[in-house]
This record gives sequence, C-alpha cells and structure tokens, in this order.
Amino acid sequence: MKVIEGKTLEEWERAVPVIRDLTALRETMWLDGHKLPAAQAAGACPLGMPDIREAEARLARFAPYLAKVFPETEQAGGILESPLREIGGMAEELGVEGTLLLKCDSHLPVSGSIKARGGIYEVLCVAERIALESGMLTLEEDYRVLAEPRFVELFSKYGIAVGSTGNLGLSIGIMSAKLGFRVTVHMSADARQWKKDMLRSKGVTVVEYSDDYSKAITEGRAQAEKDPCCHFVDDENSKNLFLGYAVAALRLKKQLEERGTPVDEAHPLFVYLPCGVGGGPGGVAFGLKEVFGDHVHCFFAEPTHAPCMTLGMATGLHAQVCVNDFGIDNRTAADGLAVGRPSQFVGKLIEPFLSGCYTISDEHLYRLLTTLADREGIHLEPSALAGMTGPGWIQDSKPGKEYQRREGLTGRLPEATHIVWATGGSMVPAADWQAYYQRGRQLLADNA
Ligand SMILES: *Cc1c(COP(=O)(O)O)cnc(C)c1O
Repeated sequence: MKVIEGKTLEEWERAVPVIRDLTALRETMWLDGHKLPAAQAAGACPLGMPDIREAEARLARFAPYLAKVFPETEQAGGILESPLREIGGMAEELGVEGTLLLKCDSHLPVSGSIKARGGIYEVLCVAERIALESGMLTLEEDYRVLAEPRFVELFSKYGIAVGSTGNLGLSIGIMSAKLGFRVTVHMSADARQWKKDMLRSKGVTVVEYSDDYSKAITEGRAQAEKDPCCHFVDDENSKNLFLGYAVAALRLKKQLEERGTPVDEAHPLFVYLPCGVGGGPGGVAFGLKEVFGDHVHCFFAEPTHAPCMTLGMATGLHAQVCVNDFGIDNRTAADGLAVGRPSQFVGKLIEPFLSGCYTISDEHLYRLLTTLADREGIHLEPSALAGMTGPGWIQDSKPGKEYQRREGLTGRLPEATHIVWATGGSMVPAADWQAYYQRGRQLLADNA
C-alpha cells in the first residue's frame, strides 16, 4: 500500500475528511482551522504594511516609464489597475444576497491577467537594482530615461527566466523584453499556443515541456542557475511577486471608497480568489487582511483536478505534497490554475489570515463563463470564473453556514459585499474564447 508522508491514503482520509472529497474530485469547501484574529495573524507575520507600501512606491517610480512605453496605460498615468464592476445580472442568476462585484484583473493592461501585478513588479525590481548599481539611475530621477537605448543596452547584458503555465510567462516576457532583457520562458504542457506565439513575436525565447508546471519551474531554475547574469523569477518562492500582488489591496480600498461601499463589522467583505501556486491569491489576500483586518474574509478557489493549496493546507504538508501523490491528475481546462504543488512559503504564511478554500469542476467553470458573457457581456478565461461559486458556498452550504456562525456573520449577509476576483481573459484570441463559450453553452443545454 502506498504511503504518503507516513500515512496511507485511507489514514489520511480518516484524519482529514476533506481529502475524501478531493480525491473523489467532488466540489467541496474546506475551512481553515488555523485562522487567527487579524491583529494576531499580522503580528506573527514577517511581512507587513511597510513592505506593501514599499512595493507601491516602487510602482509609482516606474509609472512614468510604463506610461511612456505602454501607451494604453498613459491615461492612468502608468498605474496598471483594473476596474471593479457590479454584476447585478449575475447576482440575480446566482441568487447572491448582498452586493456582487467583479474585480476585472482580466482587463489589466499590458498582459491581461492578475500576473500583470506580481510578474511585472518583480521584473521592475530587477531592472531598478541593476540600473541603480550601474550608477546610471538615481531613485529621484524621472524613470522615463529607462526607455533610452543606453539602458536597453545595459539590460541586454542580463537574462530573466521564468517557469509558467502561460500567464506569468506573458507578464514576465512582455515586460522584460520591453526593458531589453534577454528573456526565457519555460512553458508547461498546459500553456496555450497563442501565448507562446505572442511571446515569440516579441523576441522572447520560449522553451516547451510536455510535463506539468513543477517540471517547467525546476528545469527553468536549473538552467538559470548556470548563468550568474540571469535572474530566475521563482513563482514557488518569490517574495517580490507576492508583494506586487499585495499592492492590489491598497488600490481596491480606494475603489471601494469611491463607490461608497463600506467595509466594517456590519458590512463584511468576502473575496474569492482563484488559486494556482498561491502567490497571486496569497499576495492579494495578505494585502486585504492588512487593510481590512477582521472585516474581510478571503477564500481560495481551485479546480477539482488541481486542489494543491487545499491539500497542502488541510494536510499541513504544504509544498511537501503534490496532488498526484493523492491520485489526483492535475488536468484541468483552467490552465492558470493547473498546478500540482503549492508555493513553498505562501500556504504557511497565509494560513492564519485565510478563511478557507473550495473547489470547482471544469464543467462548472465553462457554464459560468457562458452565463457571465450572456448576462454581463464580460469575457473571461475558464480559470477566472473559479471565484464565482464563492457566495453560494457561504450562503447555502454546511461549511459556509458554520463559517457564518463561527465568525458572528449570521444575518449579516444582506449587507455584505462579495468580490469575485476575475483573474484573466481579455487577451484570449476571439476564436479560442468562442470555443470556451460554446463549450459552456453545450453544458448548460445538457443540464437544462
Ligand atoms: C496565475 C493565475 C491564477 C493564480 O495565481 P497563482 O499565483 O498561480 O496562485 C489565477 N488565475 C489566472 C488566470 C492565472 O493566470
């Protein structure tokens, strides 16, 4: 009998009941037993608001440069941010109590996914360090000078590499190539062809693997280590990626204030974040807990076929375990979430802040993709729909009701705000998107 970290599968299932649902590929919700009051969680965390503020300041220094080299960001002054939209039609469709908002990171400029936060931020960190060390740049200077040929030449002496299921590669590739870096993207088998084509058209070296994401990362890391002038963007370990994502919380606070949406004891905020390796949702959730404390409740959403973070946290094994160890295949149409092993540091760091996780089937993602397009005219990629079942879990499921009781939220839902984090989609080519849409149409018809 196969033993996983000292226990057989049956022993694991008995010790951690949610594993039964995970291995059966059943949609399920798991509540995080390690959640602490926000102040206590923040007190024990090695990262905090000063780190998020530093990232925000760095992005502000680069804003004039970004506005110059990416004209679509000029109007926003080079601040890459996405709209926050109320989706009333979808709320009606899903029977959501309270207000349902969509955070449209699908429409973030430059690379059309949540990776435009962390991915671009990490490349900017590298560029700033090199430019400062060269003596060609000071912190006080107007960063538009970085677009000059002398900087492009400077950066061309350095390499940047990354392993990706697609979207991180797009962000790192586009930003690095624009600055002038030699950039290599190691793509897992899940990556879509159009993403590889787009990167190659921008001069990025794309290495393809027939294996999954962990393999693409391991290979990429090993190759980058051989080159002392190459920086490897390590999605499984990177603090800079994490902090780039966390800045979203400061921006969201402003957007909520602008729409007059209160977040306090009487007006709880629920946020549902699609989770792959964990950096994106972890960074955003961490930032939100720093900003809103106990009034925000963050949940991660994963595909039933790739619930690596749920498994890592529920077993307490984190990155020591991958979904395949439990007989789960990591095959999902949600390519942004097709990750078998969670980040080494995010799970442990986020545990005291997180409310829980839930899973969603691919068929469900497709149906929601089509319904959202029909009701709201918004086009997302399958991964980006994973947040959409969150409000239903909270309102109607047994664990959801238990969570309400535990947190003193019973009766508060009519005044609640639910934010579904839509993590990608605006760059999907029309024909690819149509195929997603038709798949959802078909599944809806089969279900009717
Ligand atoms: C990467 C990605 C996520 C999740 O981010 P992780 O940092 O991998 O957890 C969610 N949705 C989309 C579309 C993504 O590309």
